[in-house]
Amino acid sequence: MSDSNNHKMEQLLSAYRERLMLYKTELEALWQTADHDVRSVQHIMSIAHKLNGSGKAYGLVELSQLARELEQACETAKALSLRELRASLSIPIHALLATLERETIARHSNRAPNCQPNSALQVNDTSNTIDILLIDDDPDFSNQLSEVLSQYGYQAHCQDDITQLDQAIADYDPVALIVDMDFSGQRFAGANHVSSWRQSSGAPLPVFFVSGYDSFELRLASVRAGGTHYLRKPLDIPKLVSLLNSELNIAPSEPYRVMLVDDDNDLLKLYDEFLTNAGYNVTIATSAQDALRLLEQSHPELILIDVYMPGCNGIELGKIIRQHEEFATIPLLFMSAAADTDMQLACARLANDEFINKPIELWRLLMVVKSRVKKGRHLRSHIGTLTVADAQAAHDSLTALPKLASLLRDIEKALPSQTPENVIAVAKIDIRDFHTINNLHGYYFGDEVLQRLTWELTQRINPGDTLYRESGDEFLLLTQAHTNQASVERYISSLIKAIEDAQIVSKHGMMVLTADVGVVFSTKNSTAGELLDHADMAIFKAKKSPTAEVCYFDEALKQAQKQCFLLENAIQKGLANDQFIAVYQPIYQVNDNKLAGFEALARWQHPERGLLGPGEFIPLMEEKGLISRLTYQMLTQALSQCATWHRKHPHLFMSLNLSARDIQKPLFLDHLTSLLSHYQLNPSRIVLEITESLLLFDWQQASYLLRQLGDLGVQLALDDFGTGYSSLSYLQRIDAAKLKIDRSFIHQWSLTGDARLLQTMVQLGKTMNMSIIAEGVEKTEELSFLRQLGCDQYQGFLAAKPMMAEEIEQTHWA
Ligand code: C2E
Ligand code: CA
Ligand code: CA
Repeated sequence: MSDSNNHKMEQLLSAYRERLMLYKTELEALWQTADHDVRSVQHIMSIAHKLNGSGKAYGLVELSQLARELEQACETAKALSLRELRASLSIPIHALLATLERETIARHSNRAPNCQPNSALQVNDTSNTIDILLIDDDPDFSNQLSEVLSQYGYQAHCQDDITQLDQAIADYDPVALIVDMDFSGQRFAGANHVSSWRQSSGAPLPVFFVSGYDSFELRLASVRAGGTHYLRKPLDIPKLVSLLNSELNIAPSEPYRVMLVDDDNDLLKLYDEFLTNAGYNVTIATSAQDALRLLEQSHPELILIDVYMPGCNGIELGKIIRQHEEFATIPLLFMSAAADTDMQLACARLANDEFINKPIELWRLLMVVKSRVKKGRHLRSHIGTLTVADAQAAHDSLTALPKLASLLRDIEKALPSQTPENVIAVAKIDIRDFHTINNLHGYYFGDEVLQRLTWELTQRINPGDTLYRESGDEFLLLTQAHTNQASVERYISSLIKAIEDAQIVSKHGMMVLTADVGVVFSTKNSTAGELLDHADMAIFKAKKSPTAEVCYFDEALKQAQKQCFLLENAIQKGLANDQFIAVYQPIYQVNDNKLAGFEALARWQHPERGLLGPGEFIPLMEEKGLISRLTYQMLTQALSQCATWHRKHPHLFMSLNLSARDIQKPLFLDHLTSLLSHYQLNPSRIVLEITESLLLFDWQQASYLLRQLGDLGVQLALDDFGTGYSSLSYLQRIDAAKLKIDRSFIHQWSLTGDARLLQTMVQLGKTMNMSIIAEGVEKTEELSFLRQLGCDQYQGFLAAKPMMAEEIEQTHWA
């Protein structure tokens, strides 16, 4: 940025600081009347809202934060009486006033906000050279390079002492840095100094590290210092120049046209100045009427609209713009506060695009604007007839990344150039547990996180590589020009690191995210479709692991998944051909060993492999959504069997297992109802065993279903009790008649003699008036001990294994 631009920014900031004084006076006056005039509070809130937004944009982070706290306090204070309200606002307002005071005093001493656009869209103006700072302790290298760069319109300022980095940046105000890694014996000095400069200033200048060496450590240090690129000496000059040009967006094109509509003048001025400095052609409007009037003259390629404007709000303005045919396809981008979800939905519907949450820092503004206009124009110029709608279809509207279809095309294009020295890989990146972010903080916050991660990733990827967004939290990366697979592996690790290092702050504090990655290397005969399939297989495996992982596709993986596929097919066939049968494990009274009932357990009569246990098929059935069919068949068999046995032994119960999936889609409910009535069964003799995982899945749906089961009169048993995370809370939440203590606890007692857990569980169940069933009883001592504890019933190999129905009849009633 030139001196005059910088000067302008400083002027803007000091003008802003002066206005802060006015805000302070106004707030003080309003505070005087806040205990007898509700409108005062409203007014205070709107000032806080403004300061939150503009403070952050001007780089006054603390001010913005305090303003936000005050705004929130006003929001919650609405419900209070006037006197209480004063008490609850007192702290936040005084904190804000104090900071306002401080910031106004500081107005003469401070530099402009850190708003140097890192990707200045320099318009081709040859009268202006482009300042670069070159720091290297080898003067010959520096002189030569600066000579060469001057031929490309760059003026390189040379500095040989890395400890003078900060000063040199202040002196020359460069748009990019080229920094040597090692300085006379001090390894990594370049990275270290850049890193500490970044921490103190945070200006997003691109940094090119250069070094005579190449190693993982060096590259890692460069990445950690926020290096944009890493180049080896001797430098490949055309490459350096092309990277510089691309970083700095030096293109002989006409500037992009952007319109900003906002009623907050402070913000508008700052954004205008900032984007203008970055090379945009900016039109500003302070009201809807203004905007509509200016639209015809300025033909913007993107319109940013503030949602909150008095008179005609942003959404209404958007609708009016859409009514004009010639403006109907201009992309709109709304700026709004995070809290208004309804508002945001309305924006999303209207704009077919998204909104950015205020307050908007300058870097985010630039990123959002840049990605949209640049891609939009790029597409229009490549395909003359392309409409904005087409452009939006090819690009993801949230992140402005290209979508899957472009990736397929790009892979096809890249494949012919692969050689053993030019390794091409496709990586699929999936943010771990992203759904919990959406669940905890809402989709809008989730969207912001995705934008942020996009930013971090695009900053780190190699030139020539492209990032794509597939859907949700899934990104795809096409990476090329690696000399070996190890280089891809290091590269992928650095990208994951970028995700982990992104400091994402939510209202609950800082979050650390990580990602699963599936990678596939192309081979001689690869096709685009196949590479994507294989990347899918790899990430599928990565996601299954309990911790985040990078998985590389190989043939074994393919085989394993093929097995899975075959198994699924065989299961499908088995379900269609009644190969799944119920076996029954008797359950006895602890005190007199009398038969009390059965648990029906599934077996697969496999045509080739014989009788298989549930471990062989239930996990896959659950994964593939087939379990509800098993439940259906088990109910059919077990209830019919129960009806037969009830003719002579009506007191026996029949217990069946449900899976979490059954709760999601309770297809079995109707079936259960009709079976009960068909066989005239006493519903209280039917027990359904549920586990905690089933409740965790979707508590609302689960409690609804459990109520319906209660209405039917069937009983519930809590299965595998004690093995989950929140057994206690789940005990309280549902009304179950039986509690089944998992066999691991019985086993554990046998091994260690430690009875505390068992005892506690039995007592707990008793307190809740439940009947306690112990599972997996294998030894007489276990049974005697359970008797002592007062356990009601048991099942286990000691008394009987699961058996076929005929076997039960022979052993029990012959
Ligand atoms: P579960 O519900 O805990 O069932 C008890 C398991 O413990 C059965 O294993 C049973 O054979 C075994 N078992 C019983 N007594 C003893 C003993 O003394 N020692 C030992 N070591 N094991 C004993 P199984 O039949 O292999 O079933 C395993 C799991 O598969 C079941 O655990 C249940 O979670 C699931 N399952 C079985 N059938 C069905 C079904 O029809 N539907 C659903 N959703 N899940 C089922
Ligand atoms: Ca069970
Ligand atoms: Ca169990």
